[in-house]
Amino acid sequence: MARYVCTNCNAEYEEKTPDGFCSNQPACEYGSGWLKEVTAEGGTRGPASAPPLENGGGQSGPGGPLSFEREIGLCILMMDGSLSMGETAFPSTGYPGNKYHLVSMNAAGGIWSLKNITRPEDAFIVLCAFAGKPELVWIKNVKEIVAEHKTREAFSEYLYQTLETRTPEPRVTNLNSAVNLAYAIYKAYMNGDLSGFGGIKDFKPLSHKVVRHDGQGGEEYIAIPNAKVLIYTDGEHNVTAAVKNPFLEEPQSILMSAFIGEDEDSAGIKQMRNLANVCPKHAPAKGFFLVNSPERIQTLKGLFRMASGASGFCPSCLALERPIATAPETRTAPEPETSPNPVQDLAPSASEHEVPSGP
Ligand SMILES: [Zn+2]
Ligand SMILES: [Zn+2]
Repeated sequence: MARYVCTNCNAEYEEKTPDGFCSNQPACEYGSGWLKEVTAEGGTRGPASAPPLENGGGQSGPGGPLSFEREIGLCILMMDGSLSMGETAFPSTGYPGNKYHLVSMNAAGGIWSLKNITRPEDAFIVLCAFAGKPELVWIKNVKEIVAEHKTREAFSEYLYQTLETRTPEPRVTNLNSAVNLAYAIYKAYMNGDLSGFGGIKDFKPLSHKVVRHDGQGGEEYIAIPNAKVLIYTDGEHNVTAAVKNPFLEEPQSILMSAFIGEDEDSAGIKQMRNLANVCPKHAPAKGFFLVNSPERIQTLKGLFRMASGASGFCPSCLALERPIATAPETRTAPEPETSPNPVQDLAPSASEHEVPSGP
């Protein structure tokens, strides 16, 4: 008798769900598990991925002092909406979705996990779709997104439709124009005025101090703005101009990047790795994430979450956040020099002040 088991939570099904994904919510983290067929004698297979991240959990950090000047954090999502995203995400596996599914479900899940932070109205997301040209879709805060879409599933569906239908020049991939738009928005944030992009003005960009390690024993205190950019692609830059990175002009780049797909020979992998920041905490590690198999789905969701508000810049930062998110009782007290920060307080013990302990 054919049966199916979820790759994430091991829930068993007599029949496949209509979309092929696990419907065991909230126990199974949304978008993480899908159904694989197992034979009666084959038994169930082990979970394909790490334990799911806790879903926000309603924990709030210590409330920041009242402030009369609004302080906001910013996440610019530069999402590849090119036609190839409509292809099966991981053809060599049984993953049931295309790449639009993959990124929409995990972006929605990652952003949704932030809805219980202390001040979701001050955690802003800039949604952009790009291929041959980038398009800014909107700037909204997490509170507005949750109120508007009601459920993670509805928000995921909205993202899917947006990427599929609103991406200009979907047959081309121009990383330069995408990164340049992200940089212009970032500079506007640093100037406290996003009105030129349809966002708010008269706010104060947040920053926090971190110890930057140079990877050779040296360290220094630097201020990092509470803004991040995440760009991903499943393709490669295919217009004539060479890829340039304006974020290299900044004292610390806040650009994270990912490559999605099984094509290990794609030039896009090297291009995305080159664009990524050098993590201030884990140098020379770069803020680049390769999502080339279903086992990396948790990484993708964690990456969207990290870009949208939780602290961290690179895969090592993400690995530090994960156990904390599943075991909130082990959190340590926030360190005094941590600024009161509406979007960083999810994971105070993953603060950049800490030296990572070994694996
Ligand atoms: Zn499941
Ligand atoms: Zn790091």
